[in-house]
Amino acid sequence: MIEKLLIANRGEIALRILRACRELGIKTVAVHSEADRELKHVLLADETVCIGPAPSAGSYLNIPAIISAAEVTDTVAIHPGYGFLSENADFAERVEKSGFIFVGPRPETIRLMGDKVSAIRAMQTAGVPCVPGSDGPLDEDKKRSLKLAREIGYPVIIKASGGGGGRGMRVVHAEATLLNAIALTRAEAMAAFGNPMVYMEKYLENPRHVEFQLLADSQGHAIHLGERDCSMQRRHQKVVEEAPAPGITPEQRHTIGERCAEACRRIGYRGAGTFEFLYENGEFYFIEMNTRVQVEHPVTEMITGVDIVKEQILIAAGEKLHYTQDDIQIRGHAVECRLNAEHPDTFIPCPGRIEEFHAPGGPGIRMETHIYSGYYVPPYYDSMIGKLIAHGEDRQSALARMSNALRETVIEGIHTNLPLQRRILTDAAFRAGGVNIHYLEKKLGL
Ligand code: ADP
Repeated sequence: MIEKLLIANRGEIALRILRACRELGIKTVAVHSEADRELKHVLLADETVCIGPAPSAGSYLNIPAIISAAEVTDTVAIHPGYGFLSENADFAERVEKSGFIFVGPRPETIRLMGDKVSAIRAMQTAGVPCVPGSDGPLDEDKKRSLKLAREIGYPVIIKASGGGGGRGMRVVHAEATLLNAIALTRAEAMAAFGNPMVYMEKYLENPRHVEFQLLADSQGHAIHLGERDCSMQRRHQKVVEEAPAPGITPEQRHTIGERCAEACRRIGYRGAGTFEFLYENGEFYFIEMNTRVQVEHPVTEMITGVDIVKEQILIAAGEKLHYTQDDIQIRGHAVECRLNAEHPDTFIPCPGRIEEFHAPGGPGIRMETHIYSGYYVPPYYDSMIGKLIAHGEDRQSALARMSNALRETVIEGIHTNLPLQRRILTDAAFRAGGVNIHYLEKKLGL
């Protein structure tokens, strides 16, 4: 078993990992920047190490500082959380080469999935449905690219194989602009990601974002925990997530989930992972895999009863999955609202001191946050300050509980997106379920 685990992250996910460790009897090391001495998990951890200045480049992204902190504290395993170094294959490799356990997949797997062209190839081999496209990188042959786009049918999207965070993509509506778009995306990809490889996909105009949660152990077992709908987005950032996805049938869940599990077995996947799909006209189209725990994992936990973070740690310790596919039953519905320190209308981040904080409660309510009355939200990091999750016997009851909980939540001293979340919960189309990825921006008039 792992005796001590270093949490290479901050905020709510660091606290979430600390809680999982406590349950498992694992000692914790919190590493933090100079701006984060008052973080809740830092106050609660068994040991703490300051790893650098406030800007993340010098602290949460500082690989040598994190490895040194692990060495001086006799850490056994390192959990990267999400964001920061969580999908950095070089970090995972350094962690393992330094003799620590990386809570996540093998570095080669992170590398394979981090490159979109190789990820899509791996998925196609396993029978995971992908977006019709170039099935590989575009070469310099202009005629071939024009012919391909004609076959796929406009609009198409040119994407950088090494891209991420919604960057390195260009939609092309007509043949006249295709070659220019390929050249531009290639140049941008080279500048931003150091990799000029680009590929082409059919551009889906009104899809939903539906993703599958997977768990796999190092003995070759893999199961899926069903899907989540994360279509309520603004600028590719998820705002509200729910599970299960409205309108997805048990047969679809079984078919797609099993193909994802098969893909995990084939690539020797280890740990928790998410297969992201666009979903349009009843069909799933794989777009990418995330090789880490996700912000929205609690909605899946609420409907399956599986503690994904604990499973991640146990898998990293070499244990076999504690569940078979037949053990996984979907119970009720769960929804999550992300809470951000930002102006509800302008979306401008709003760091500052939290004067008052009252958490909501009641049946089915779960609050994942590191904030407390008197906590100062620093300006250096992501503006998410927590997540509110509601679970109910069905979607309607989950939404009713969420509305109550949003009304009960009090965060004073800074602006938050609570008013926006309350508005979303009263929106008729959202309440009906199944809106597409453009809906929220249209509603907000963006
Ligand atoms: P990133 O790694 O940058 O997040 P993704 O491949 O996940 O890139 O795509 C990000 C977003 O871009 C998707 O959630 C979707 O909104 C849009 N997108 C990507 N590919 C397509 C496509 N083929 N058709 C329509 N939209 C797409």
